[in-house]
Parts: sequence; structure tokens; C-alpha cells
Amino acid sequence: MAKLVVSKFGGTSMGDADCMLRSAEVSFRQGSGLVVVSATSGTTNDLIALGKTAESQAWSESEKILSKIQDKHNKIAQDLKLPADAKAKLETLFEEMSSLAKGMHLLKDCSVKAMDTLMSLGERMSSVLFTEAMSQVLKKHGSAKSAELLDVRTVLRTDDQFGKAKPLTNDVANLCQKNLSFLREGKKVMCTQGYIGMTEEGITTTLGRGGSDYSAAILAEGVSADVLEIWTDVAGIATTDPRLCPKAQPISEISFKEASELATFGAKVLHPATLLPAIRKNIPVFVGSSFDVEARGTWVRMDVEDHPLIRAMALRKKQVLVTLSTPEMLYAHGFLFQIFKIFNDHKVSIDAITTSEISVSVTLDDSTLLNKNLIKDLSQIADVQVEENLALISLIGNNINHTPGLGKRIFETIPDINVRMICLGASKHNFCFLVADEQGPEVIKRLHACFIEAGIEEMA
Ligand code: ADP
Ligand code: ASP
Ligand code: MG
Repeated sequence: MAKLVVSKFGGTSMGDADCMLRSAEVSFRQGSGLVVVSATSGTTNDLIALGKTAESQAWSESEKILSKIQDKHNKIAQDLKLPADAKAKLETLFEEMSSLAKGMHLLKDCSVKAMDTLMSLGERMSSVLFTEAMSQVLKKHGSAKSAELLDVRTVLRTDDQFGKAKPLTNDVANLCQKNLSFLREGKKVMCTQGYIGMTEEGITTTLGRGGSDYSAAILAEGVSADVLEIWTDVAGIATTDPRLCPKAQPISEISFKEASELATFGAKVLHPATLLPAIRKNIPVFVGSSFDVEARGTWVRMDVEDHPLIRAMALRKKQVLVTLSTPEMLYAHGFLFQIFKIFNDHKVSIDAITTSEISVSVTLDDSTLLNKNLIKDLSQIADVQVEENLALISLIGNNINHTPGLGKRIFETIPDINVRMICLGASKHNFCFLVADEQGPEVIKRLHACFIEAGIEEMA
């Protein structure tokens, strides 16, 4: 039976007609059966701006954004010489976008629920264009396969947590079985949207920013793919964000556990949840550049050959440290339970945590503070102190909690920098600590020089 490959292309890989054709060439070369695409770069941000503008400003301001989005997609349509039926699909989506924005303007309301439908248009528009690019590439190579547009909402069932909906994996598996079992026949290349899904009631949802990686992984799990490929604008996962540190090195192979820590702790190259479905089904994941297919890229797998002490490092900006203190915690039990229950009720996830006898400190994304009720509820049980403008630095590797002298080496590189909190012990793959937000990039540069660049020089 033919190998089933699910490939995902991010926003920059959808940037214009050339990018789309290049990405379609990659899909053809890789023999992809299901291609998942993001919105064209910048469009999701434009749609968010559209919703906010429609809600609060004169309609003429919204019209400017509508034209910007339409012009961008019309240009790609023109460059691809989009046939009439696909052009009509695009026009229908433009009309939907304009009507939704008008509704938000009249009601002076852009709720998260309504925003999800508006934001879904980015992926719905790009996928119409990409399907044409894929058709042209298949034709050019004389392939017998055909490219078809799939509305991912027919298979990607989610709950109704708008803005950050959770895929319902059993439902997705059943719907994939029902609607996509033909994929293995290898006759069609289905082109579909990342980032979006639908509730059982038929309402459109989104999986959270950067969620197309996660969509692709959920679909790969749903169709039991042999390989999941994430094509982006960098040649794989690097030892740190190449934008932060130009000396970042490509990683050829990394374990699921290390890559999951890296994604969770800030490496934007993968959405934090991407690897969960891949781990559940043991599907190897390849990360590569759609702009440079010859570059080696990164394989993420269950088992890898080498297990370096420090493989990579990540920076997560805009963190807050929330410290909860109460003398009642002395010799008492149940305090942590009460705290976690409140976080659970508000569906807020905690990344790093430390405790003392009478206090608990947790790190959160600063956007969490927008939820005023969370702080209010926490204040009912403890004194709450919030420190803002922090960055979480994570070192990712192996055997981190059983290596003497590691802490010394780390902190020797930053003797002049105040470390606000340290987390070590829970994972053998992660050592993380908090510093001031503006010092984050400098800390990463120094740690990279010490642990990655020095190691390479030693080997040379
Ligand atoms: P896409 O639109 O294709 O999903 P993203 O912008 O979401 O692309 O992710 C790719 C970006 O992730 C890269 O341009 C890079 O700046 C950033 N990045 C952060 N950490 C890493 C890392 N460790 N390795 C590679 N890229 C990283
Ligand atoms: N288009 C969405 C975003 O910009 C999802 C994605 O690109 O992964 O967040
Ligand atoms: Mg991304």
C-alpha cells in the first residue's frame, strides 16, 4: 500500500503565487496525499484587525482592511490565472468576510465566537488558491492524480472553546475514516485548511494562533499517516531561534520529548500541541524549509541516536510570575489543590512552578491577566503578587537533572543578570528560569555560545 504523507505549509510558504507553486512542487516531490495550508502570511493578523476595527471604528476604516485582504488574494488569483469556478469560490468568501465585518460593525460586537468564523476565512481563501497551484503542478508533471479542495470542517470536529478549540480525536478519527479513507489509493491530493474546525452544532472554531501545525498533526493521526511534514521558512528545528542567534545550528534529529519541551517553552517553529497526536500514533515528523528542499531539515521521532546534555534552547517572552502566599499553608494540606482548581476552572495552563512553605509561584503568559476573574478568585484564598515583563529561558536536552556542575556552568555565563525563579527536577529534558524580558535575548546568546557554539569548536 502507498505511503500516506500529510504535509503542512505555513503562512510564508503561502506568501504569493510563486511561494504557492514552490510549495505545491514540494508536495508533489514528497508524494503528499493530504496538504494542510495556513492563511497567506499576515492575513490572520489582518482579519483580527478587521474585527476590532469593525467593532469600534468608522466603517470606512474596515473597508480599507477589506480591500487590503482582497487585493492580496486577487493578486495571487491573477498570477495563478485562477479558473472561473475557483474565482467564484474566492468571491463568495470575500462576500462572507464583508458581511461578517458589517455585522460586527452594526452590533459593535466582535465576540470570540464571531471572530473564529472571521479568522477562518484566511485559511479558507488560501486553500482555494493553493488547490489551483497544486493542480497546475500535477498537470506540469503529467501526473494522473488530481488536486481537490477539502473543507476541513467536515472532519476536524472540536469542542466549543472558541479561540482555542480542542479537537475531539475520536470524532476526528471516525470522520476521517468515513470521508478520507480513499487517500491511500493515491489518486487524489486533498488540499485543506489548517487552524480551523467545527463544533458538532456546525459552528466554526479555531485552534489558537499558529494552530495549523496542530491541525496537520490531528489529521495525520486521524488518517493514520506514515509521515507528517511541517514545511516552513527555516530548514528545520535549530538549536535556538535563528532570528535571535544567527549562529543557531540545524538539528538533524530530535526526540519527541525534547521537541515537545522546545515547542511548549517558546520555539515558534512548532505549535506546542503538534507532537501530541504524533506521539499517540508514533508518526515521525519532518520539519523542513519549503524555500530550500535540499537542506536536510529535522526528523522528530520517538527514538533518536544521540542524547546530548543540551540540544537546544528557547525563549518565551511576555511572562508573568504570580506568587500566592498565605500563612494558612503552614502545616496545612489542600492549598495547592485549591489553587490548581481555580486555574483549572479558568482553563489556564501553568508552565513553571515553585513552592515554599507558605507560598507558591507560577509563570503564566501575560495575556492570562486579561482574565480579571482569575486574579479575583485567587485573591479569595491567598495574597496575590504579580510581577510582569519577564522571560522564561529553557535549556532542552537529556539527563539534565542528573548532571553535576550543570547549574554552575549555566549561571557562570550570566553573573550580572538577576534570575527571578529556577525550575529544575521535574523533567530530565528541561532546565528553565526567569529573567527580565529585555535581558532574554542576551541570555540566550550567551548560553548558546557556551553550550552549543563552544561544543562545536571543541569537536572541530
Ligand atoms: P509558519 O508560518 O511556517 O508556521 P512560524 O513563523 O510559525 O512559521 O515558525 C517558523 C519560525 O519559528 C522561524 O522563522 C523561526 O524564527 C522561529 N523559531 C523559533 N525557534 C526556532 C527553532 N528552535 N528552530 C527553528 N525556528 C525557530
Ligand atoms: N493562520 C493562523 C495564524 O496565523 C494559523 C497558522 O498559521 O498556523 O495564527
Ligand atoms: Mg507556525
